[in-house]
Amino acid sequence: MLAGSFIAIAVKQPLLALPLAAASHFILDALPHFGYRRGSYTEMFKHRLAYVVSAFDVIGVLLLCLTVLSQNWIIFAGALLAALPDISWPYRYYYYERHGHLPPESAYTRFHYKIQWCERPWALIIEALFFVALFMLIGRYIAA
Ligand SMILES: [Zn+2]
Repeated sequence: MLAGSFIAIAVKQPLLALPLAAASHFILDALPHFGYRRGSYTEMFKHRLAYVVSAFDVIGVLLLCLTVLSQNWIIFAGALLAALPDISWPYRYYYYERHGHLPPESAYTRFHYKIQWCERPWALIIEALFFVALFMLIGRYIAA
């Protein structure tokens, strides 16, 4: 969401910024990031750190909403588009995995799963650094 917000702020042209914000999701998914097993909420919910990270995610999203909602809807749309592809993971967990069923596969889910080659707990450090850097950049753009 921060990357999508930043893209919307920096690019300033919605027709270019919004697709770039959506594409940023997959680029960031391809970088090392926090997680336990690619796309598996079943595994993630076994670890306390996942709950702590999720709490920070919620706080971060709320801060982001408060920050960007007062600016303009394009920034908010960029944030939503950047996060939207991950809506499939909770859906797959709550409707299938949680009940012991295999979720349906598609070319999209296989692609989304495959690009997340490095989802590991230690990558939380990379995410935290990225979060701080983007939050500072967004703050600088908004203040200017
Ligand atoms: Zn994703």
